[in-house]
Amino acid sequence: MPKRRDIIKRLSSLPLLGGLALSASPIQSLAGAMKSNPLKYRDYFKELGIRTFINAAGTYTSMTGSLMAEEVVEAIQYASKEYVLLDELQDRVGERIAALVHCEAATITSGAASAITLATAGILSGMDEKKAAMIPHLEGSGMKSEVIMQKAHDIVYAHALRNCGVKVIFVETRAELEKAINEKTALLFFVNANNLEGKIKAEEFVEVAKKYSIPTLNDCAADVPPVENLWKYTRMGFDLVCFSGGKGIRGPQSAGLLLGRKDMIAAARLSAPPRGNTVGRCMKVSKEEILGMLIALESYLAKDHDQDWKLWEGQVSFINDAIKSVQGVQTKIDVPPIANHIPTLNVSWNIKQVKLSGDELKEKLRNGHPSIEVAGGGANSVSITTWMLVPGQERIVASRVREALLKASV
Ligand SMILES: *Cc1c(COP(=O)(O)O)cnc(C)c1O
Repeated sequence: MPKRRDIIKRLSSLPLLGGLALSASPIQSLAGAMKSNPLKYRDYFKELGIRTFINAAGTYTSMTGSLMAEEVVEAIQYASKEYVLLDELQDRVGERIAALVHCEAATITSGAASAITLATAGILSGMDEKKAAMIPHLEGSGMKSEVIMQKAHDIVYAHALRNCGVKVIFVETRAELEKAINEKTALLFFVNANNLEGKIKAEEFVEVAKKYSIPTLNDCAADVPPVENLWKYTRMGFDLVCFSGGKGIRGPQSAGLLLGRKDMIAAARLSAPPRGNTVGRCMKVSKEEILGMLIALESYLAKDHDQDWKLWEGQVSFINDAIKSVQGVQTKIDVPPIANHIPTLNVSWNIKQVKLSGDELKEKLRNGHPSIEVAGGGANSVSITTWMLVPGQERIVASRVREALLKASV
């Protein structure tokens, strides 16, 4: 293990960092002390001049998602020391996961977005490798070429469908959906988080799909908690369901789960590595991530979810108590109904009493020590979640948000 003095020497020899103060402020050392065994590693991010921060925002890809539990990191380290066959590992892990979440079959993808692409590719190709090799060029291939979804479910991740060359058709009502279904329809795509916004709810969507024998995929990327969502939608009748590995489940950030029908999972894997002439070849998942994802899922399932919930509620209340008395500030604790279904503190203020925009507050929290990220922003509000905090960090978040609001108070 390098000695502190050596690290300082090494750091000060880096031109980028030579001028940075190395002594931590008391609050920085508190944050440092809460990290597990900080001296076990070189401070790589510091060497690179990269800001680390307290994540009071949530599971954002831009903020590198979630933190993995120690046992997940151990599984990753374990896997890094042995060779195995990629397909054999996917087979066995897939069987384990299917048993854990009560569905027919499962595979690990590189995130929920990749699960959407691979699922679509498999539905188009079936078990025909020649067809899989033609994706995304569908014209004249004999493959179907349209995916239907509701307008209210239009999200950026629909791009993951289009990777396969399909045209996405938008509908609003059940009548429009039934009318849009034709011999080119490959898949009906559903975004679980938008269930309440769409006119056709999940059960009815499945019912229509079954009536016309069209496969369904439900994107549930950010939809645990609650834990039972891991089996609710395959049981409801969706043929395929996908989840992000690196959001609520806290697996590797570049892993995801594709769950559902055995034949469709097998077909999806025809477009996944190690097979090279496929749309999914550039969505490789390493053995470390595959094993890490399994262990993360095991840990997630074994958790005391009520205790987690009480912890998050307590943390959110703590922050709320610290800031709600600031003149002109309104707070509301809310739980989004489906995705990111966790206690969320929405903070807003009268800008006549607190002279600061939401974006300015975010900037102040980001630039302070330690750096803190919160969500929302805009004219006069931010939102705060605590599920991605290291327990104890809520105290720092509470005092820093309070301090910033008070400083801007007139
Ligand atoms: C996050 C998210 C995705 C993408 O998930 P990754 O695991 O980052 O690929 C897809 N769909 C929805 C609704 C999401 O929230």
